[in-house]
Amino acid sequence: MTPIDRSRLERLTAAETERYVSARPKARALFERAQNSLVGGVPMQWMSEWPGGFPPVMTEAQGARLTDIDGHRYIDFCLGDTGAMFGHSPPAVAAVVARQAAKGLTAMLPSENAVIVAELLAERFGLPFWQMALSATDANRFVLRLAREITGRPKILVFNGCYHGTVDETIVSLEDGIPRSRRGNVGPAFDPTADSRVVEFNDLAALEAALKDRQVACVLTEPALTNLTGVVLPDPGYHPALRDLTRKAGTLLVIDETHTISTGPGGYTRAFGLEPDIFVLGKPIAGGIPAAAFGMTREVGAKVRDRLYGPGTSVAGIGGTLTANALALAAMRATLTEVATDSAYAHMTKLGERLAAGIRAVISRHDLPWYVTQLGARVEYRFQPTPPRTGTEARAGADGAVDRFFHLWCLNRGVMVTPMHNMLLACPATSEADVIRHDEVFGEAVAALLGS
Ligand code: PMP
Repeated sequence: MTPIDRSRLERLTAAETERYVSARPKARALFERAQNSLVGGVPMQWMSEWPGGFPPVMTEAQGARLTDIDGHRYIDFCLGDTGAMFGHSPPAVAAVVARQAAKGLTAMLPSENAVIVAELLAERFGLPFWQMALSATDANRFVLRLAREITGRPKILVFNGCYHGTVDETIVSLEDGIPRSRRGNVGPAFDPTADSRVVEFNDLAALEAALKDRQVACVLTEPALTNLTGVVLPDPGYHPALRDLTRKAGTLLVIDETHTISTGPGGYTRAFGLEPDIFVLGKPIAGGIPAAAFGMTREVGAKVRDRLYGPGTSVAGIGGTLTANALALAAMRATLTEVATDSAYAHMTKLGERLAAGIRAVISRHDLPWYVTQLGARVEYRFQPTPPRTGTEARAGADGAVDRFFHLWCLNRGVMVTPMHNMLLACPATSEADVIRHDEVFGEAVAALLGS
């Protein structure tokens, strides 16, 4: 664990909190005013996770820069926790959105862009059939239903420590090896251990045992688990074995690339040759406009079509009124053709490498038992000597107090890191100078923490 003097950490955090609060009188006043109209003073519960007692209030964001109501300008490495992974308001998306906004936003009808987007997705990710959703949560909910529907099997399987959005069936974890409704699961609709199986990532024997009775409709997983306190990477050979076991059991494999799309233009799937039956994508796919998509193999697509499409076949539980709206599809098309390009990814990945190298240099300068992971544009550091192999190991490395200190230290010096992780993303507008600034600020934080 972190070789850190806890009383020094507390002192430093108190000083940084004071600095944060006193430099943000307008955000603080708005937060106090909001106590009368927004539950907890924020429009969405997660926003209460920011350190400092209240979040900065955003006024404007462009590229890799975000400005708050108190006039602070940040280098934004959080990028909306991947929603703005291609930079804030990419000019091509902003232009298309403005044009489309004047020509009809939503109509419960397909636009030509729907076909163009599906063709672009098919070409990029290798799966022939596509459907749209409004968020990755939405897409995952639909996919689980479709998998159960077309296989006729009742169960799904996820990995311990997973996060796939606010999807009831997936809010499950292992505690001392026993499946449980995850701690903090808010008003669960049902006991998720009834029909969801959960095993540790990288544990092939447990996976094989859980699939053996052929009751599992699908395995839903990220290629690497990114929603823990530290990324859990697959062991060498894990993905081919996962594919092999799911095929043998007649279980569909759903790969959720919502975060790992940072890996490259075709996600982790294309970079590492994965072969999912269903593929889920959300967050940055429309450059920040709410949208998601899921792709299917020819076989899965045909089964879904034959069962659910056409007059009189609509099924409760799939789709939504605003889903596949004209605005989102115009933004997706612009993102896929003009923003999430090979050259944009080459830049983002190069800067991801630079960010990781800078953090590693500070860690080795101080001989700290911490590690860094990188998935293309995405970099994360944790306070353990080696990356965890399972959700349980990742949880053991959590140190919320140290996280909060880093976040505050960085915010106070104009650098924004993602709360809930120590995660940084490079976007097409991130520069070498931005990375150098992060190196400095991170290095100073570590020196202060160690008293060196
Ligand atoms: N899947 C993964 C892998 C995610 O990380 C997330 C969100 N962090 C989601 C799905 C859900 O995305 P959203 O909150 O945009 O619905």
